[in-house]
Amino acid sequence: MHAIGIDIGGTKIAGALVDELGTIIRADRVPSPAGDPREIEDAVVAMISGLAAGTDVCGAGVAAAGFIDAAQSTVYYAPNINWRNEPFRDKLESRLNIPVIIENDANAAGWAEFRYGAGRLFSDMVTLTIGTGVGGAIVANDRLFRGGFGAGAELGHLRLVPDGLPCGCGARGCIEQYGSGRALLRIAGELADAGGIGRGIALVREQNGSLTGTDVAKLLAEGDGGALAALRQLGTALGQACASLGAVLDPQIFVFGGGVAAAGDLLIEPIRSAYLEHLPARGFHPEAAFAVAELVNDAGVVGAADLARLHATGGN
Ligand SMILES: [Zn+2]
Repeated sequence: MHAIGIDIGGTKIAGALVDELGTIIRADRVPSPAGDPREIEDAVVAMISGLAAGTDVCGAGVAAAGFIDAAQSTVYYAPNINWRNEPFRDKLESRLNIPVIIENDANAAGWAEFRYGAGRLFSDMVTLTIGTGVGGAIVANDRLFRGGFGAGAELGHLRLVPDGLPCGCGARGCIEQYGSGRALLRIAGELADAGGIGRGIALVREQNGSLTGTDVAKLLAEGDGGALAALRQLGTALGQACASLGAVLDPQIFVFGGGVAAAGDLLIEPIRSAYLEHLPARGFHPEAAFAVAELVNDAGVVGAADLARLHATGGN
């Protein structure tokens, strides 16, 4: 049966009616009301009602950034919306006549990748979403791992460097500070300051007044030595994190999504070599596969819809 997936982002709310094969039947998108909980609730109710009209729907899944309880019901904390211990599922269910679940957005996107994307042939998968920050999702033994309180799989905050760079989460040395899109800009800026291989980056920065992700992507496409070195440094940090994750979770595949993953093999290659170099008991541990995510823009809504369907039918 069809299910609805909603993805509440910082700037937009996206939604879709999705079939059992992960195919989007109908989609909708509105600007996100800036952080106002009641307006967001109204917008989500309107979108679910619109997508469900005239169709048999088994449930709706709503993905948002933040900590969601293990019962997929209450948002403990959301960074973009003023939600603190928000009973969002009950509020939505009281206004809609279908079952609703709430899911962390990185978990929903990772689940879509596991069901319909690069992870579909495996039972154990780790995804890292390399956007402005670093998001993560873990599937273990065909199930989404949420942790005891529902706040697990925050892989961006795995500590990579003791007493390292301060992170927005309040800790120091998190992988997000060394392996994210923001980190790539920092590293590229440092190479530009140092001269030498960073001359090409420095030139672009001077011409444009600042350095953006688009500038770095363009430099990478041109084969600029400094941009390639920055990406290699980023991939090396991510590969070290993957070695630690491999020791704990032993996934068969690591999948990389987000804007920076568009670099493809240029990113995957340094990740894999750092992983192999740092993997405990290397040579004895079977080597995981490394891949770029296949579901790019729709992963959040497709994953949220599938998790809603599984919830309605008693799975995951
Ligand atoms: Zn952190």
